[in-house]
Amino acid sequence: MKKISIAISSCLVGKKVRYDGGHKRSKYCLDVMNDWFNYIPICPEMSVGMPTPRPPIHLVESNKQIRVKMVNDHSIDVTDDLVSFARKTLSDIRTISGYIVIRNSPSCGMERVKVYHENGNPSNISASGAYIGEIMKQRPELPVEEEGRLSDPKLRENFINRVFAYNEWQDMVLNKPSLKSLVAFHSRYKYLIMAHSYQAYKELGRLVANDGSKHIHTIISEYEQLLMQALRTVASSKSHTNVLYHILGYLKRDISSEAKQELIKIIEQYRKGVVTLIVPVTLINHYINQFGSNYISNQAYLNPHPIELGLRNYL
Ligand code: SF4
Repeated sequence: MKKISIAISSCLVGKKVRYDGGHKRSKYCLDVMNDWFNYIPICPEMSVGMPTPRPPIHLVESNKQIRVKMVNDHSIDVTDDLVSFARKTLSDIRTISGYIVIRNSPSCGMERVKVYHENGNPSNISASGAYIGEIMKQRPELPVEEEGRLSDPKLRENFINRVFAYNEWQDMVLNKPSLKSLVAFHSRYKYLIMAHSYQAYKELGRLVANDGSKHIHTIISEYEQLLMQALRTVASSKSHTNVLYHILGYLKRDISSEAKQELIKIIEQYRKGVVTLIVPVTLINHYINQFGSNYISNQAYLNPHPIELGLRNYL
C-alpha cells in the first residue's frame, strides 16, 4: 500500500529543533503509524531563521491582534515571518493529506494556545499558533490534529479516518475532476458520511445530483468543504448503529434468519457498549464478503483504514 504523505511538526519526529534544544519524539506517530504514513517534517521557527536553542516566544494580545513575540522582549515580533512562511509552504504541501502538530506551541499549536497581555500576564483568551493558524485558514479542508489528542481513541480514529478519506478524495476526484468521479466517490462514501452526519449526507447528495446550475469545479469545491467538515464530527454509537442496520438491510434476503438474529444481537451489544465497533463490523464484513453486491462491498465504511491500526477496537 502506498504511504500517505502528511506533514508533521519536526520536533515530533525527534529532530532537536525546539527552543530548549530538545525534541518531542512521538512514539505513536513513529512506532505505530509509520507503516502507513510518509512524514514531511516542518519546523516553522527554524525555517524563519531562529536558532536552536533560542529564547522562547509566546502569543500576545496587542492592539486587538494576536502577535507572536519573544517572551523576554516584546519588541521582537516574528508573526509576519511565520505567516509568510506558512503561505510559502502551502505550495510545497499541496498534495499532503493531513498535518500533525504539537499542542501549546505559539507557532504550531492547533487551538487553545495561551495568549498573554503585553505586561506578561496571561489573558483569558486562547488562539491557534501563527503558522498553523494560517495553514488552516488557507486549507480548511485539510485534516489537522495535535499529537497529544491522538491518545484519545475517538479523536485518533476520527483524525486517521479523515486522512484516509481525504487521501482517497484527492486520488479519486481532485486528480480526475468530473461528475463521474464525484458520483463514484459519493457512492463509496455514502455510509461513512452518514455515520458522521446525516444532515451532511443529505446535503452532499443534493450537491451531487446537480440540476445543471453549477459548474463541476464549483460542485467539487463545495463538496470538499462540506465533506471534510462533516467528517470532523465524531461519529456516535447511535449513528454507527443506524449505519450498521442500514448495511444489514442489504443482507437480509441472503442470510439465514439465525445469522440475521446473530447480527442483530451483536449490533445491539455494540449499541449498549458491551462490545466495541470492530465486533459487528467484522461479522458484517464476513457476510458481505460472501453475499454482498459490488455496491455494498465497496462501501468505505466497512474498511475505512487499515485494520492493523486497531482503531475500531476502542470505539
Ligand atoms: S516551531 Fe513547531 S516544529 Fe518547531 S520546535 Fe516549535 S513546535 Fe516543534
